[in-house]
Amino acid sequence: MSGKFPWLLVVGVFISFTIPSDDIYDQKGYYLFPIRPGEINYLSGSMGELRSTHFHSGIDIKTGGVQGYNVYAAADGFLNRVKVSTGGYGKAIYIQHPNNTFTVYAHLREYSKEVADYVKAQQYRKKSYVVDLFPKKGAFTFNKGDIIAASGNTGSSSAPHLHFEIRDGNHRILDPLRFDFPEIRDTREPELRTIAFKTMDADSRVNGQFGRIVFSTSREGNLFKLNEGVNLSGRIGVEIYAFDRQNDTNNRYGLPCVEFYHNDSLIYSHHIKVFSFRDTRNLLVHTNYPHMANTRRRFHKLYIDDGNELPFYEGEGNAIIDINDTLSHHFDIKLWDVKGNFSQANFVVNNSIPGESKSPVWKRKEHYRVTDNTLELYTDYGDGELNHITVYANRFSYELEPAYKIDNKAYYLWDLRDGLPDSVDYCGSIEDLHFKSTIPSLTDFSYFSDKMDLEFGKRTLFDTLYLQTWMDFDSTSNREIFNFHDQ
Ligand SMILES: [Zn+2]
Repeated sequence: MSGKFPWLLVVGVFISFTIPSDDIYDQKGYYLFPIRPGEINYLSGSMGELRSTHFHSGIDIKTGGVQGYNVYAAADGFLNRVKVSTGGYGKAIYIQHPNNTFTVYAHLREYSKEVADYVKAQQYRKKSYVVDLFPKKGAFTFNKGDIIAASGNTGSSSAPHLHFEIRDGNHRILDPLRFDFPEIRDTREPELRTIAFKTMDADSRVNGQFGRIVFSTSREGNLFKLNEGVNLSGRIGVEIYAFDRQNDTNNRYGLPCVEFYHNDSLIYSHHIKVFSFRDTRNLLVHTNYPHMANTRRRFHKLYIDDGNELPFYEGEGNAIIDINDTLSHHFDIKLWDVKGNFSQANFVVNNSIPGESKSPVWKRKEHYRVTDNTLELYTDYGDGELNHITVYANRFSYELEPAYKIDNKAYYLWDLRDGLPDSVDYCGSIEDLHFKSTIPSLTDFSYFSDKMDLEFGKRTLFDTLYLQTWMDFDSTSNREIFNFHDQ
C-alpha cells in the first residue's frame, strides 16, 4: 500500500458529510417555519428571484409592516455566526444544524438576551458596532423552536420582514419552499406577461428588423398566447417576463422552473434549486441587463448567453434558435413553481399571420447604439431623398446601404468584428463614434491612452466590450470630464 493512500480515505470521509442538494429536500419537516409557525404566512420575496445584481438568496417573510415578531430556531443546532453590519443583513444570526446545513435570519431588531450580551461584550472589546463573530462550536446551543431574536428592519431592508435562508454544508443557497412549509399557501400558476425576441447578429431579423421586440400575451386559464404574428429569420434569442404568484398576495415571485421547446424538442430549461454566492453575479447575463437598466423589468433569457457560468441549465448548446426557412415553427414554454403549479405559453412563428414591423424605440438624441457585436445607426429622411451613409473605419471609408426602413427612418448595421469605426458621415454631418479598443473577456487586459488608462481583470467582463471613451469639458466648473461607456 502506498504511503499516500490512508490520506485519501480520510478525505473521502469528510466529503461524505455533505449531502447532495436533491437529497436534502427529502428532509421535509426538519425545519420549523421561523415566524408564526403553524399559522398562514406571506412572503414578499422568494429564493432565486431576480434582483438587480444577484439572485435572491432566501425567502422574505412578511411581518405585517411591524417589527418585534418572535424569530424561532428552525431546528436544533448551535450558533455558528453573529454578524452586525450597517448595510446588508443588518443584525443576523447563523445556526449550524446536525444535518450539516445552516439557517440564516437577517434584518433582526435584536437578539435573544444570551446572544445580545455576547455581542455587546464583543462590540466593547473591539470598539466597533460592526462585528462578525464566530463563537466556539457549542458555546450557544438552541433547540428547535427556541426564540432566538426579534424580527426587524436593520441593514439594507426597505420594510420590516425576516430574511430567512437555508444553506447546505458548503454555504450554497437552498430553496426553503422546497421543504414544503404548510405556512405558505400557493395554488396559483406562474404568469407569463411578455415574450421578447432578440436578434443575435446583424443578419437576423424579427418582423423584418434588427433588435429586440417585446410582444404581450393574453391569458386563457393557465395558457398564455401571443396576441400577434411573429416572423423570425436567423439567430434569435427568446426572453420572457414571467413570475410566480402565491395565494392572497399581489407580490411577484421568482420563477424556479422553465422549459422551452422548439417543435417538441427541449432546447432550454432552468431549475433553480441550489446556487453558490460565487455564481450569483451571473444574474447580469441570465437577464437582459441593458433592458433591465432602462426599464427595471427583469426578463429571463431562454438562451445561455456568452460568459454565463450558472449551473441551472439543462439541454444542449446555447438554446439560441436558428431559423433559415419560411415554415411554421412551434414553440412551447412551460413554467412551474416549487408546489407544481403549472402554466404554459404556445406560439407559432412564420405562420400565415404576417408580423408587423414596429418603429424601434431610441433614446432622445441617440443616433447610434451597440447591441452585442452590432452597431446600429439610423437617419430620419422625412420626405427627402434617402441616401447611404459613410462609415470611416480601419483608415477606409465604407458606404452603407439601409438594412431596412420603417416610418421614414433608415436603419444601418455594422458588424463591429469587422473593425471599429471612428466616425460616421450622415450626408454631411459627421459624428464621432468614440470607439477606442476591443476588450476581450476572460483575460487580463490593459487599455492605455494619453488621457486615461483602464485595467480589466479576468472576470471584469462577461463578453467582448467595444470600448468607447471620450472627453468633455465643462466650462462652468472648468473641469475635464472623462467618459467611458455607459452603465
Ligand atoms: Zn431577503
